[in-house]
Amino acid sequence: MRQKFEHFLDEANPASRCLLAVFASTPFYFTYWFINLAGLLDPVAQVGLRQAVVWTLQAALSISAALSIGFVVWLWPRRRDPRPMPGLSVAVTVNIGLIYTLIALFSGTFTTGANMTLLGVLAIGLLLFDLRTMWIAFLVCSGLLVLYDVFVMTGHVPYAPAITRLAFKGVEPQWWWAVWRNVVFYVGVTVISTMLLVMFGRLDAVHRKLNKLSYTDALTGLPNRRYFMDRLHAEVARQGRTAQPLSLMLIDADHFKRVNDAHGHTVGDEVLTVLARLLGESVRTPTDVAARLGGEEFAVLLPDTTVDEAEAVCWRIHSRLAAHAFQASGQTFHLTVSVGVAQCHGQSAEVVLKQADRNLYRAKQEGRNRSIYSVDSALDREVGA
Ligand code: GH3
Ligand code: MG
Ligand code: MG
Repeated sequence: MRQKFEHFLDEANPASRCLLAVFASTPFYFTYWFINLAGLLDPVAQVGLRQAVVWTLQAALSISAALSIGFVVWLWPRRRDPRPMPGLSVAVTVNIGLIYTLIALFSGTFTTGANMTLLGVLAIGLLLFDLRTMWIAFLVCSGLLVLYDVFVMTGHVPYAPAITRLAFKGVEPQWWWAVWRNVVFYVGVTVISTMLLVMFGRLDAVHRKLNKLSYTDALTGLPNRRYFMDRLHAEVARQGRTAQPLSLMLIDADHFKRVNDAHGHTVGDEVLTVLARLLGESVRTPTDVAARLGGEEFAVLLPDTTVDEAEAVCWRIHSRLAAHAFQASGQTFHLTVSVGVAQCHGQSAEVVLKQADRNLYRAKQEGRNRSIYSVDSALDREVGA
C-alpha cells in the first residue's frame, strides 16, 4: 500500500495528482457534514449554533462534494493522461481551499484548530501542484479570510458566525463545542501530518536519487567527472593540511577508435563498461575513487598513496586488462590503456591534473600500453606494461 502510494507520487501526472487531492480531502467534507448535522439536530447544541450559517456551510459542503464527485468522474478515465491540466488543477485546489477556509472562518479563524488544517492543506497542495496553481488558490482563500476579517473589524459581520455565545459557558466552551473543535483539529492534523511525512520522505528519496544521478556516469555506473573533480579538490585540500601522500592516475584507452570502427559503437560501449569494472576492481573502495571523465578517459584518485604504491595499482590494471579477452563478431581482441600518474606535493588540483596529463601524453608518445609516473616534474619515471 505504502509502496504503491510512493510509486504513485514518483510517477504522478497532473490528472492523478488532482485525483489524489480530491480523494484526500473529500472524507473531511463528509465528516464535517455529519458533525454539523448532528449539531443542528441536537437540542443542546442547536442553541449554540447560528443555524442559518451552519446550513449555509452544509450547502457549501454539499456543492463542493458534488464538484469533487464530478472531478473524479471526469478524471478517472484520464488518470494516465500525461498532459498538463492547469484549469482543472486550479478548480480542484480552489474548491478544496475554499471549503477549508469557510470551515476555519465560520468557526473562528484564530480560535479553532481549522487554521492549522488550512496551513497543512497549503503545504500538501505545494507538494502536489505547481506554484502558479497554488498561488491562485492561496490568493483566493487568503483574500476571503482577510476580507472577512476586515468586515469583522468594521463590525459588519460577527466573528465565528457559526456559533453564538451559548456555545460557551462563561469563558469555557460547552462540551459539544469543545468536542467539535477537538475532532476537527485532531482528525485534520493526524491526516495532514501523515500525508506530509510520507510526501516529504518521498521528496527526500527523490532528492537523494537525483543527487546520485548527477554524480554517476550513465554508461558505466562509475562516478562521473563532476564527482571526481569535487573529490580531487577535497583530497588536494586535505593533502595540503595533513601532508599525506596523494596520487592521481589519468587513464586513456589505446586506439579505442579502432574498436568502434572494427566492431561498432555498441561493442565499444560494452568494452568501456568492462574497462570501468576492471578499474573499479583494481582499487581500494571506498577510499580510492575510480571515475569516468568522459569518452574513453578514466581517472583514479588514490588518497594516502605514494607514487610507488600507485605503481602497483597500475600494474594490476595493465595485467587484468591483458588477461581479459574481449569477444565480438567472432573475434577475440585485447584492450590496452596508457596511464599518466602524478603525486600531489602541495600543488593545486589543476597543476596535479596537468602533470598527470603530461605523463599520459608521454605514455601515448612512447608507444602506449604503459604508465608514466612523476613524483614531481623533475623526477619522471617510466614503467612499461
Ligand atoms: P589513442 O590511443 O591516441 O587514445 O587513440 P584513440 O582512438 O583511443 O583516441 P581518439 O581520441 O582518436 O578516439 C577516441 C574514440 O573513443 C573516438 C570515440 O568515438 C570513442 N568514444 C568516446 N566515447 C565513447 C563512448 O561513450 N562509446 C563508444 N563506443 N566510443 C566512444
Ligand atoms: Mg584513447
Ligand atoms: Mg582520449
